[in-house]
Amino acid sequence: MPDRDYFNTDSSTVIIQEAYRMYLTRLFELVGSSSEQAKLNAQKVYEIDKEIASSHRTRVELRDVKANYNKIAIRDLDVKHPNIGWSRLLKDLYAQTDSINVGQPTYYDKLNELLKTVSIQDWKVYLKAKSLINYSNALSKAFVDASFEYDKIISGQAVQKSRGEKMASAVDQNLGEALGQSYVKRYFSEEAKMRMLDLVNNIQKAYATRIDKLEWMSDSTKQKAKEKLFAITKKIGYPDKWKDYSNVHIARDTYFENLVSANATAFQRNFDKLGKSVDKTEWFTTPSTVTAYNNPTANEIVFPAGILQPPYFDNNADDALNYGGIGMVIGHELTHTFDDQGAQFDKEGNVKNWWTEEDYKKFKSKIQQVIDQYSEFTVLDSLRINGAMTVGENTADIAGIAVAYDAFKMTQQGQDTTKLGDFSPDQRFFLSIAKIWRVKMKDEFLRLWINNNSHSPPMWRVNGPLMNTTPFYHAFNVQPEDRMYLPEEERITIW
Ligand SMILES: [Zn+2]
Repeated sequence: MPDRDYFNTDSSTVIIQEAYRMYLTRLFELVGSSSEQAKLNAQKVYEIDKEIASSHRTRVELRDVKANYNKIAIRDLDVKHPNIGWSRLLKDLYAQTDSINVGQPTYYDKLNELLKTVSIQDWKVYLKAKSLINYSNALSKAFVDASFEYDKIISGQAVQKSRGEKMASAVDQNLGEALGQSYVKRYFSEEAKMRMLDLVNNIQKAYATRIDKLEWMSDSTKQKAKEKLFAITKKIGYPDKWKDYSNVHIARDTYFENLVSANATAFQRNFDKLGKSVDKTEWFTTPSTVTAYNNPTANEIVFPAGILQPPYFDNNADDALNYGGIGMVIGHELTHTFDDQGAQFDKEGNVKNWWTEEDYKKFKSKIQQVIDQYSEFTVLDSLRINGAMTVGENTADIAGIAVAYDAFKMTQQGQDTTKLGDFSPDQRFFLSIAKIWRVKMKDEFLRLWINNNSHSPPMWRVNGPLMNTTPFYHAFNVQPEDRMYLPEEERITIW
């Protein structure tokens, strides 16, 4: 199930609950249970899941940085959760540590309770179900089809992906930095890397100027914000050091075993980090992925080669296209350094306050404005954006565009008015923003997105921030009767 809230009883989730039980039933039938037994098993698994889900925090609660950090001594956990048996568990995993960070304590409290109240037979059924779900896409066609029937209900996807597409993503997911080496050779030149670094540096400079001009922030907080801004590590294209896959065993006729081997290697790689200092060169995405991220605990921003391609970035295109495209993404990632969560981390990546009390209060009230504004955007029938869940991303979109625009205005083209095609440089900048978020979605997928994704849906990643962007009004002569018009006093500027 996609989230804890899918166990609630409204009409759209009840359909998915039923689909989940049917999926589980089918999986048990496929491994030999009678249809009667399969149904009983499915019901048991469903009930355990529902119990566990009740102990999970909501996605909005999970945005609370401090609540997610609970360093607890193992000996205290042993007392608190005798049924989990932490010491024994960690010993069996060869994990030497005297404390761990328990992200969601209520989940482990619930697990400790369930380990006593649920029978061992039922746990076996439960774990069998979870293994089948994990690997259903790697098994024979009947399993793959069962998994797809469930996905269809959840996401509205009409046809399965081709074998070629599935295999390409399997290679990316499991051997991403091996694939990445050939990807960057083919699709990411050194010149492109230099141009991208130039864009990042210009937008970073424009950011500092914006901070200097903020009317709501005191000079001492401005100073700290700029120190943090210039301490950011920039990772562009691909990692300096490649992951080693020599322990992964691959053979042409053992697909399932190949995946198990890749998973085991990835698990071991993570486990080996225990007790060692953090490897700051590590990447948490693969080079060929179309994404970008900000990692607040390392104060770093990361842009894999996969997103440094048209329509986001084109080494041969004009500045308007690049500042509107990848420029918005760069501004967005820089802003995560200063969103509702990022603002709580210092320049070293520690959760540590660097704000004056007064400034932080003003910042929080601006964050609340973003929450309130986006909560009014209706996406599908009566479904609205969850303003509190998406506030970090929306803040990053609003400020990301503002700073990318400022940086664009410092280029030669930004200061010019010569049209290219039928559009002025400013119009081309804003069109490029709209272009990078062009997608088509089924209603089911949009609903899934709204409930679970911390980003606003793509259309609102354009319309939402641009309603707050005054230069956009000038570029396209937006008037009060236009649907995207907001009175000036309602347009939000945070950074
Ligand atoms: Zn983001």
